[in-house]
Amino acid sequence: MKIGIVGCAGRMGRMLVNETAKTAGCEVGGGTDLAGSPFIGKDVTLIAGLEESGVLVGDDPRALFEAVDAVIDFTAPAATMNHAKLAAETGKIHVIGTTGLSNDQKAELKVAAKTATIIFAPNMSVGVNLAFALVEKVAAILDKDTADIEIVEMHHKHKVDAPSGTALGLGEAAAKGRGVDLDAVSVRSRDGHTGARENGTIGFATLRGGDVVGDHTVVFACEGERIEITHKASSREVFAKGAVRAAKWAEGKAPGLYSMRDVLGI
Ligand code: NAD
Repeated sequence: MKIGIVGCAGRMGRMLVNETAKTAGCEVGGGTDLAGSPFIGKDVTLIAGLEESGVLVGDDPRALFEAVDAVIDFTAPAATMNHAKLAAETGKIHVIGTTGLSNDQKAELKVAAKTATIIFAPNMSVGVNLAFALVEKVAAILDKDTADIEIVEMHHKHKVDAPSGTALGLGEAAAKGRGVDLDAVSVRSRDGHTGARENGTIGFATLRGGDVVGDHTVVFACEGERIEITHKASSREVFAKGAVRAAKWAEGKAPGLYSMRDVLGI
C-alpha cells in the first residue's frame, strides 16, 4: 500500500513517515508540506531520520493524492478541508488526525465521504479510544443530576487549539452516554464569579506546558465518591501507529466517514 503524508515535515508528519516505512506491506509514496516551507525539495525519509529514499517533499497535494492509495493528514483545519476535497475527487483513502475542525468543517467531511473513504479521529491511540467507550458507558449509568462530569487535559506548550480534540471527543462520548447534545451542556471556561455549578453540564479545563504529549482525565464527581478515567500518552508514536493501522483497515472499504472506534471494532 502506497501511503502519502501531507504535512510530512511536522512533528506528527515525521513520525508518520517513520511508522509507514517500518510497517509491513506499506511504503512511503510521497509527502507534501506547506508551499514555501524550507523543507520543500528535501528528502521525505531523510528529514524523518531515516535513510535517503529519493522521494522529495512536494507542495502539490493533488499530485500526491493521484499517486498513492491513502493519504495521512495531521496538518491544520483549512489544509485538511482542501485535502478532503481532493480525496473526494480522486476517491482515495484519507486518514485525518488534524484537530480543531469547526462543526461546519466536520459537516463538510460527511459530504467528501460520499466518494472518499475517510477515517477521522481526534485521537488515533488504541488506549484513548478504549477510554471513549468506557466514558460513554459510565455516563450512561450515572445519573446526570448527581454525577458532575469534568474533563481535564494537558498538552505541550506548542499546541494551538483548546480544549484538545481528544478532550472534546471524551465530552462527546459522555454526552452520547447521557443522550444529550454536547454543545448544549458544555462549559468551556470559568473565570470570576461564575455562580454554582449547573447540574448536567460537562466542564472542560485546559493546561499547557513543557513537552507533555497528551494527558486526559474524565472526572465523574458524585456525593461521597469520585470516578476518574485517565489516559496518558508518553510518545507520539501511538498516534502514528493508529493512523497507519487505520489506513490499512480502510483498504477496500466502501466510501464513508469512519472513526477509530470502527477501525478497532469497539
Ligand atoms: P506541526 O505544526 O508540527 O505539523 C503540522 C505540519 O503541517 C507542518 O509541517 C505544517 O507546515 C504542515 N502544513 C500546514 N498546512 C499545510 C498545507 N496546507 N499543506 C501541507 N502541509 C501543511 O503539528 P503536529 O504537532 O504535527 O500536529 C498536527 C495536527 O495533528 C494538529 O491538529 C494536532 O492537534 C493533531 N494531532 C492529532 C493527533 C491524533 O491522534 N489525532 C495526535 C497528535 C496531533
